This record gives sequence, structure tokens and C-alpha cells, in this order.
Amino acid sequence: MAKNDFKDYVCRPYCIFFKEGHKEEMSCRGAEVVEKLVLLGQINTDALPHFKKDSRLWQKYTNIIGENICVTCPFRAEDCNFMSEDPEAKPYDEIEPCGGFIMLALLIENDLINIAGLEKGL
Ligand code: SF4
Repeated sequence: MAKNDFKDYVCRPYCIFFKEGHKEEMSCRGAEVVEKLVLLGQINTDALPHFKKDSRLWQKYTNIIGENICVTCPFRAEDCNFMSEDPEAKPYDEIEPCGGFIMLALLIENDLINIAGLEKGL
């Protein structure tokens, strides 16, 4: 069955902050970007493998995703510990980013999207 809702392919499988049945007014920028890539046909949700989360990737892609995606995320300022500039909120291996960030890192690492696309301001 096709997965048409980003909650199905981003939030439920990858996001520790997702709460079933809890209505969020906003979505994180990472999930929005993944959804846009799906709508543009650049990601086929039916052909996606189930990725295993890998905390090494969060650090590896913090700068590229942070500078291109998180910078415009409505959660960044107050709710996102992962992108917080407060040193108490680190290190990375103890704090997970949102599912959108995790999925983008996994997609880049597995050559399913390229960094240039993110830099063009998706
Ligand atoms: S890691 Fe934080 S700032 Fe970046 S997209 Fe996710 S919630 Fe937003």
C-alpha cells in the first residue's frame, strides 16, 4: 500500500518526538522537505528500505542539514535540543534529532538524494 502521509514514512518509523493522535500545529522542516521530495517524485516511498538509525550520521550531516534545513525550522529556537547552541544539550549521541533530520541524513548517506538538492533550498 502506498504511503502518502509523511507521518507514515518519516514520523512513525524515525521520530522519537512523534506522539500518535497528538495534533501538532506545525511540522518540522526536515519532514516537510522529505515530503516535498516525495511530491516531486525524487523519493519513492514504496521502494524505500527500512533504514536503521545511525547516530554517527547525525553528527556527520549536522552542518549540511543544519545550515540548509534546520535554519528555517519552526522548532529550532525553543523546542529542538539537537540543534540547540546550549552546550548542556549535547553531545549528539545522547540526543536524537527529529525524524525528518534522521531520514534526510539516511537518504544522503545511501545516495538516494544529493546534497546539492538541499543546498538549492528545497
Ligand atoms: S533537527 Fe530540530 S531544527 Fe532540525 S528539522 Fe528537526 S526539529 Fe527542526
